[in-house]
Amino acid sequence: MGLTIYLNGDFVPDEEARVSVFDHGLLYGDGVFEGIRFYNGRVFKLDEHLQRLYDSAKAIRLEIPLKPEEMKEVILETIRRNNLRDGYVRPVVTRGPGDLGLDPDKCPEPFVFVIADTIVLYPDESYKNGLSVITVPTRRNVPEALNPRIKSLNYLNNILAKIEANNVNAASDIPIAEEAIMLSNDGYVVECTGDNIFIVEGRDTACRVSTPPTYIGALEGVTRNTAMDLARDMGLQVEEKIFTRYEVYIADECFLTGTAAEIIPVVKVDGRIIGDGRPGRITQELVKRFRNLTQTTGTEIF
Ligand code: PMP
Repeated sequence: MGLTIYLNGDFVPDEEARVSVFDHGLLYGDGVFEGIRFYNGRVFKLDEHLQRLYDSAKAIRLEIPLKPEEMKEVILETIRRNNLRDGYVRPVVTRGPGDLGLDPDKCPEPFVFVIADTIVLYPDESYKNGLSVITVPTRRNVPEALNPRIKSLNYLNNILAKIEANNVNAASDIPIAEEAIMLSNDGYVVECTGDNIFIVEGRDTACRVSTPPTYIGALEGVTRNTAMDLARDMGLQVEEKIFTRYEVYIADECFLTGTAAEIIPVVKVDGRIIGDGRPGRITQELVKRFRNLTQTTGTEIF
């Protein structure tokens, strides 16, 4: 692929970027990561992503062998070495190589790598026409176990949910499960496999923009927080609240947020048309403001 990878202190060609088969990141999903976008020569919300990376590491008692300022420079340098101005960068910190037991104390040195690449996006039509999503049986992890606020390498739960969505798509002529909504054990809407979810209730300036609180098991998405800020800037009432699928079905608008998806409208949930079946006015305005922000703010790469 011709990429240059940061691999634990060196920059190496991708074909030489190898991780030990004894690395607990691979054996047990023991590690943390971030997914970060850069646009127009600037990294979007780099400090917020770094903060979440270090918070996730702290939560699993993993000491990242680089200071945040050093990690920032490594991320920027990886993008520079790949001569990219627009793309996606993925810092990963694993527990490092150990023995075949799961004890993290037997892994003396964490392992760090960073991949910068271009990104495959949802097609333009999805932003113009909106997505169709479904709820799937696999529940979001409970916060009392591996807290979903930790962006860990352990994504198997979300992958199971994605497989359920793929199964539904395979049985239909048109993709009706472009993302999968995951519920909490109590049946409340939490988030999607790789995106946060929002609903808009009401159509005028008094409308409310809501997303589930992180304590029920949602990742505190960087894009989620940005969308909330943008909605507040628009003078809208923004709240974190618990809701069920019913509130989604009868919402006036629905949209997802995520680093890869950005802000993307949803027009169908479990076969129910949301609003008038077109991306909503508030959602469209948020998409516009978000794009403007990504093009004009961020940490300079070059
Ligand atoms: N939820 C999950 C489970 C995710 O993996 C992601 C993507 N990191 C998000 C939400 C969105 O978070 P962000 O806006 O920070 O990319």
